[in-house]
Amino acid sequence: MSATLGAILQELEPDWDIQIFERLGDLAEESSNPWNNAGTGHAALCELNYTPERTDGSIDISSAVKVNEQFQISRQFWAHLVTSGAIPDPRAFINPTPHMSFVWGEANVDYLRRRWEALKDHPLFTGMEFSDDPRVIRTWAPLLIPGRAKSEPIAATRAVAGTDVDFGALSHLLTKRLADAGATLRTGVVVTGVKRQRDRTWKLSLRRDVGGTPVAPVTARFVFVGAGGYALKLLQKSGIKEIRGYGGFPVSGEFLRTDDQEVVARHAAKVYGKASVGSPPMSVPHLDLRVVDGSGSLMFGPYAGFSPKYLKTGSILDLFASIRWHNIVPMVAAGLGNLGLVRYLVGQLLASEETKFAELRRFYPDAQPEDWYRITAGQRVQVIKRDRKKLGVLQFGTEVVAAGDGSIAGLLGASPGASTAVPIMLDVIERCFPDRLAAWTPALKRMVPSYGTKLSEDPDRAARTLADTAKALQLSA
Ligand SMILES: Cc1cc2nc3c(=O)[nH]c(=O)nc-3n(C[C@H](O)[C@H](O)[C@H](O)COP(=O)(O)OP(=O)(O)OC[C@H]3O[C@@H](n4cnc5c(N)ncnc54)[C@H](O)[C@@H]3O)c2cc1C
Repeated sequence: MSATLGAILQELEPDWDIQIFERLGDLAEESSNPWNNAGTGHAALCELNYTPERTDGSIDISSAVKVNEQFQISRQFWAHLVTSGAIPDPRAFINPTPHMSFVWGEANVDYLRRRWEALKDHPLFTGMEFSDDPRVIRTWAPLLIPGRAKSEPIAATRAVAGTDVDFGALSHLLTKRLADAGATLRTGVVVTGVKRQRDRTWKLSLRRDVGGTPVAPVTARFVFVGAGGYALKLLQKSGIKEIRGYGGFPVSGEFLRTDDQEVVARHAAKVYGKASVGSPPMSVPHLDLRVVDGSGSLMFGPYAGFSPKYLKTGSILDLFASIRWHNIVPMVAAGLGNLGLVRYLVGQLLASEETKFAELRRFYPDAQPEDWYRITAGQRVQVIKRDRKKLGVLQFGTEVVAAGDGSIAGLLGASPGASTAVPIMLDVIERCFPDRLAAWTPALKRMVPSYGTKLSEDPDRAARTLADTAKALQLSA
């Protein structure tokens, strides 16, 4: 997120002094690391939680259109980075990977067909295919069919325009470019305090992560708190009133991974299933091809769990240390209002290895335990916020929290995540630099040609944009 904002700001104002602080020894070792997230370029091509069924049986596609529209903004910016020569090879961070939804059981097959009918003629979803024929599905994703009962109704959709993104590689590429153009990057340096000065600038207190020795503080006119799960903590330290009432609920996770190239060679897709009724969006299981550093692996999960840490490398005191007088009511109310989530997490924590492997076999019936090993995923910190009626709610999206004067902003929350980094950072820019926006708009339109418009409302432009970005990023159209 920080690398994306830095890249945009540097292009807008090349003379600005940008300083980046990272507490760990290297960049992108937390959520943005490719093995800590699923690497899905979220465009709602396969994620069924974005297309709920209304009570009358019709399919609500509004969230899917919104997420896809946001992803097209990221795609355009990434295409701009490639065509302008800032990132020479798109394959260093993005790979064409068909996105499939896969369901079993009559009711789910019926739902998937209606979802496909609702989306297939939309300008952002053209080319989506549907099949309930196992022979066709086998040609799309061979692992899904052998070993499955013939009597079981199944169906799938496929969108060849899907992507697998290595957000860690992208973070490195963007930050290297920033540093080459004069930004300062300091790794192993922790921001321990954020304090407003009399002249309205911000003073950042710093110390080395290893050894804890203090580092000379810096002052800044504008601060972006791109600290992932620790954004809440730093925004609380800043004392801005806008952070009052916010809390965080951490959810940990695990994936199963195989690097067995015979298995990997038979699965060139990301296949998303349907979450069971009442379970949260992050529980949707998926079997994904991942391409990291040029080599392929498969990942299945996530299996959720609970840890009170706000970062994978965080402290077990994080959750308790984030409690303030202003967020205790929302946090308790959100907890009581989400007992279903608590039950789901307890169920996941208590599930045996066999039960967990059986989940993978719902997708890949012939999977062999010896081919797979467990990896720990990144921490998601879901946003808890005040709510007039319910006192406190838990939400699964992301939220930019900015001071009223725009001098500091941070990002809370987890989903849809890194795929939507560009529209989220454009939101930060609009909220924090409103007086510069008019002057910056031509440059923003060079970076994101559809900036300020909606592709979903202009089918011709949508088709052109999809084709142009596919060409620049070497993706399937
Ligand atoms: C299990 C899982 C699956 C996901 N799947 C997807 C997916 O398929 N597609 C998708 O688009 N998104 C996905 N996401 C979300 C995505 O990973 C995140 O939205 C994104 O990586 C967040 O980027 P970030 O820069 O905000 O945070 P991070 O990548 O966590 O970076 C924050 C950085 O700040 C540093 N930091 C923290 N505190 C300090 C401090 N005090 N001083 C200095 N440095 C500090 C941390 O060390 C870290 O490097 C997933 C997330 C998880 C956990």
